[in-house]
Amino acid sequence: AQIKEVSFVKSSNRPKDCPKDGLPEFAVLGRSNVGKSSLINALVRKKEVALTSKKPGKTQLINHFLINKSWYIVDLPGYGFAKASESARMDWSVFTKGYFLNRDTLVAVLLLVDASIPITFVFTKCDKSKGGKGARPDENIRSFQELVRQNYKHQPPWIMTSSVTGLGRDELLLHMSQLRNY
Ligand code: GDP
Repeated sequence: AQIKEVSFVKSSNRPKDCPKDGLPEFAVLGRSNVGKSSLINALVRKKEVALTSKKPGKTQLINHFLINKSWYIVDLPGYGFAKASESARMDWSVFTKGYFLNRDTLVAVLLLVDASIPITFVFTKCDKSKGGKGARPDENIRSFQELVRQNYKHQPPWIMTSSVTGLGRDELLLHMSQLRNY
């Protein structure tokens, strides 16, 4: 799992301009100032790599870094910080549809969260499967939970919900009442 080689490939301002070579990619996402650049630099052990995406004019772009010539780390624009003008800011509803839902090579989104914030992950739309096709959603969720149980030291509290089927409603309410009384 070592990173031997990293190169900046390109900045894209639209999902459809992203590389089309079919290599798998991991998209890194988080609020501005969450530590995204620092983490990317730490992963690739290069101080300057993610600086590329901090250059003026590049912060609102999708930046692809090629790792070992075989997969990508994708630095997505930070959200929740109104430094960019209205017109330059990414339209998240358009972006979500274009990138997250249609990018076939997207293996996973790494959502960065500052560890000093008490947080519970509430997954929505658990009645749907990825991209509306493929395995049944409950199978996807089960295999995801199994993977995490078997492989990771820390498991965040998370709750799977669906406002369509009511999945997770009771669990979430119970979780909140337990936290209130803790
Ligand atoms: P970005 O805007 O999400 O790319 O965030 P940066 O990587 O530029 O980091 C924002 C601030 O958080 C900087 O002042 C960093 O020095 C600090 N920071 C980033 N990662 C860490 C970390 O792991 N620990 C601590 N203590 N500070 C960090």
